[in-house]
Amino acid sequence: MRIIIVGGGPVGCFCAAMLSRRGSDVTIVEEHGKPGLPFACTGIVTKEIFSILDSIKNQDDAVPVINEIKSCTIISDKRKAKLPVHDFIIDRIKFDQNMAKLAKKNGASILYNTKFMKLQRSGKKWLASVISSNSTRNNEDKNIKLSADIIIGADGPVSSVGVSAGLINPARKRFILGNQVRCEADGYFDTGSFEADLTIRKFFGWVVPENKKIARIGIGVPTDGRNKPKDTLKSFLKKVSGRYGKLKIIDRQAGLIPVFSPWIKSQNKDRTVFLLGDAAGQVKSTTGGGLIPGLRAAAILSECIQQGKNYDLCWKKSIGPDLVAHNIIKWKLDRMSDRQLDGLVKDVSAKKVKSVLASSNRDKPLKMMLSLVMNNPNLIKYVI
Ligand SMILES: Cc1cc2nc3c(=O)[nH]c(=O)nc-3n(C[C@H](O)[C@H](O)[C@H](O)COP(=O)(O)OP(=O)(O)OC[C@H]3O[C@@H](n4cnc5c(N)ncnc54)[C@H](O)[C@@H]3O)c2cc1C
Repeated sequence: MRIIIVGGGPVGCFCAAMLSRRGSDVTIVEEHGKPGLPFACTGIVTKEIFSILDSIKNQDDAVPVINEIKSCTIISDKRKAKLPVHDFIIDRIKFDQNMAKLAKKNGASILYNTKFMKLQRSGKKWLASVISSNSTRNNEDKNIKLSADIIIGADGPVSSVGVSAGLINPARKRFILGNQVRCEADGYFDTGSFEADLTIRKFFGWVVPENKKIARIGIGVPTDGRNKPKDTLKSFLKKVSGRYGKLKIIDRQAGLIPVFSPWIKSQNKDRTVFLLGDAAGQVKSTTGGGLIPGLRAAAILSECIQQGKNYDLCWKKSIGPDLVAHNIIKWKLDRMSDRQLDGLVKDVSAKKVKSVLASSNRDKPLKMMLSLVMNNPNLIKYVI
């Protein structure tokens, strides 16, 4: 079975590795020249990432951890609370390179500098029109048609595969714009803790330390035309510099984060075109984290293709409920006043709440919310 995966990001590459090792003939089509660049990511992951990658053995060094985080300080207008978490900060460029290596090691091939344009049916096969800008004799771009039985769109938030296959209506997709800088501070960051600032409404602002001197600092805002992400980041940096001293910008990243919708169509009728990762909106809407759900969905898709199972049904059953729970929490947070957020931050500072959080998994918010409410009935007002 010949499979084309459009998008050589981490999710596409992981799926390629899983499919190739089970015998499929997989080609990845990637518009950029090398894996990992350009990148737009804060690189926070939960420990779940290790167990997902364990499904392909001997990948101990696949997750390039550069910092380990033990707490998260949430900040509202008038309050702060330091909550226990256990997260890892990764080198995202290296991680993408590792995923590309993993795909190749398992037998997939990757065509870099090759941009997917559109899909056409040719009998039972698909023809993917691509433009290759790999140097040719007369240095011209080459239009090529690649034939495959199955096409997977792992091509990021604005999925051309999804649009070309009629699975996505781009006008109906909603996004958060993430705008981030890596900064060196005059002062020192607390390396064991990151900050989530809820005063940046409709998403949040973050300060995520790589080490004592360098942090990833950013904001997210909905792309509804009512926000000015550049100005929001500028004033957030001013606020942060009040705590850490002068900040010297090292580099900048910006990118779209899709808002998860349970109604997304992630496959066509005859199950020969599939959407995966950001292309399918598989992202936690509270945090914008898409690596864990995307990698989990990649494992599910590879199994579904090989066992003839219904992917749309399988991933929505497996990771869908937790992604919906993230949507509900986000919906509630967006509608709280500044005063209500202060109240929430105060309530979650309670010892009892912290001890539940310490033993909870953020990737399983349904379970987490249930045990929070069971142990602290006072919190029910934030759930219903
Ligand atoms: C500012 C910011 C911060 C974030 N922070 C975190 C975080 O801390 N933790 C976390 O888990 N997630 C985070 N995310 C989300 C995370 O980056 C994504 O969920 C993740 O990259 C999804 O991986 P993917 O492989 O599905 O898509 P991508 O990484 O977007 O990869 C898609 C690939 O497809 C290629 N492509 C696109 N169109 C075409 C085409 N037409 N032809 C050929 N190739 C194409 C692209 O070049 C790209 O390489 C963040 C996102 C942003 C924007």
